[in-house]
Amino acid sequence: MQKWFIFLGNNLLLKKQGDSYSVPEADNSPTPTFEWTTIQELPSLDDMPCKAYALTSPPREGLPESFVTVDLRQSYYLLPHAHYLMAAKASELLYWDSNTHYCGVCGAPMKRQTVISKKCTNCGKEIWPQVAPAIIVRIKKAATLDADGHVVEPEKILLVHARNFRHSERMGLVAGFVETGETLEECVIREVHEEVQLNITNIRYFGSQAWPYPCGIMIGFTADYVSGSIHLQEEELSRGSWFSRDKMPDIPDKMSIARQLIDDWLSS
Ligand SMILES: [Zn+2]
Repeated sequence: MQKWFIFLGNNLLLKKQGDSYSVPEADNSPTPTFEWTTIQELPSLDDMPCKAYALTSPPREGLPESFVTVDLRQSYYLLPHAHYLMAAKASELLYWDSNTHYCGVCGAPMKRQTVISKKCTNCGKEIWPQVAPAIIVRIKKAATLDADGHVVEPEKILLVHARNFRHSERMGLVAGFVETGETLEECVIREVHEEVQLNITNIRYFGSQAWPYPCGIMIGFTADYVSGSIHLQEEELSRGSWFSRDKMPDIPDKMSIARQLIDDWLSS
């Protein structure tokens, strides 16, 4: 038996029994595959070999009985965490495979060398899956106190609404891709300056999260506000302001490191 991580676009094929969802297990691929279908090998899970492939269109004969398609993000809430992580890895590897049929140096076909590498059939160029790092930062503004030490303004964090958010009301954290030649900390400072024009200090690593949409890693930081007033980068952000714990807006899903960063502050 093997576990099969099968993708149809951004959706994962899962087996549904009652209210429970699972990664299908079978000796052979549960749907028809073609000679051009890449079967991607994955590490084992629960002592069972794992494989992945992508369908370019729904099977002509329909999905096997009791199979459903579930958005990869949604599968986070439906599968055991280790299974979601394997699905995420599978998605990244299939994305890599589909984008590297030909050599970027000479244009000749690439040939699979190991489960995570390919080699050019002409010039010998070797490639591995690439991960795109992005930073995300929670900026805290200290409480303002009066002369007697009473709180005038409570502690707040900066939340912004990016134009590419899927939810119109949702507020998240400043984030952005790391550029060539910069450190993660430099990236945090640059992104904060570009997006909201604030000066920050005390940049501290918080944690990271594989982000397979399609092949990223989110690296989370915390920082403290120093100076400046919010000026939004209009092309990327539509809203941005400081929020106190008792007046939080709609915030990102539990699955995201953005939410972990916000929850960490809310519970501190
Ligand atoms: Zn080549």
